[in-house]
Amino acid sequence: MYDVLIPKAYFVKLLENLAAMVEEQKDYLTHLDAQIGDSDHGVNLSIGFREVMKKLPDLVAQDVDIATLLKKSGMSLLSRVGGASGPLYGSLFMKLGAPVAGKNEVTFAELCEMIKSGIDAVVSRGKAELGDKTMVDALLPARDALFAGMEEGLKPLDVMEKAVAAAEAGRDSVVDKVAKKGRAMRLGERAIGHVDPGTASSCLFLRVFTDTLKEFV
Ligand code: ADP
Ligand code: MG
Repeated sequence: MYDVLIPKAYFVKLLENLAAMVEEQKDYLTHLDAQIGDSDHGVNLSIGFREVMKKLPDLVAQDVDIATLLKKSGMSLLSRVGGASGPLYGSLFMKLGAPVAGKNEVTFAELCEMIKSGIDAVVSRGKAELGDKTMVDALLPARDALFAGMEEGLKPLDVMEKAVAAAEAGRDSVVDKVAKKGRAMRLGERAIGHVDPGTASSCLFLRVFTDTLKEFV
């Protein structure tokens, strides 16, 4: 069941769908950042994904492998996006393809390894721990849910849904906490009661990974 093949077209569509989602959610994410940050999270992601979209046609024309497609897209995010989230999401996309270098299709099990590789890159770059009220609070539970879901023998899309649910639970679990990393840290207790913008965008990202997969498996 986990050897179902996912073509490169999934990753091209994924980047397009992520860019569209970011445009739709830009104001919402910026609004969250206005509460406990500097009102730019949605704007940052929008700048980054517009750059990704600008580079996508050439990468498709060059018929690069999946890892290269994702690595170049991550480099666009890293180089274009200011703020904490640029380097963090940049690292995530740059490392997504690491487990599948040279491939043009991947199994579902490999897709989970890819997502794990990307999430682990965020953790090693940002050094945030669970409970610090950062995107890691959504991403780490999602990563673990993927492998727990496969262990349970759930269908691929159900494994993905389990990861989205875990991310959302993680996002909600830190609403009533103070931030221990990033800009919101300076607010101390005033961050309590607010959703962390990065946990919110991470949930939305995983939702797009999941919904896009419905067209391919
Ligand atoms: P900035 O805070 O520099 O303005 P953004 O607004 O784009 O950048 O992104 C803010 C988000 O980045 C936060 O909501 C938080 O989830 C995430 N973040 C900040 N620092 C870290 C870190 N060290 N590790 C993981 N995520 C972090
Ligand atoms: Mg900000």
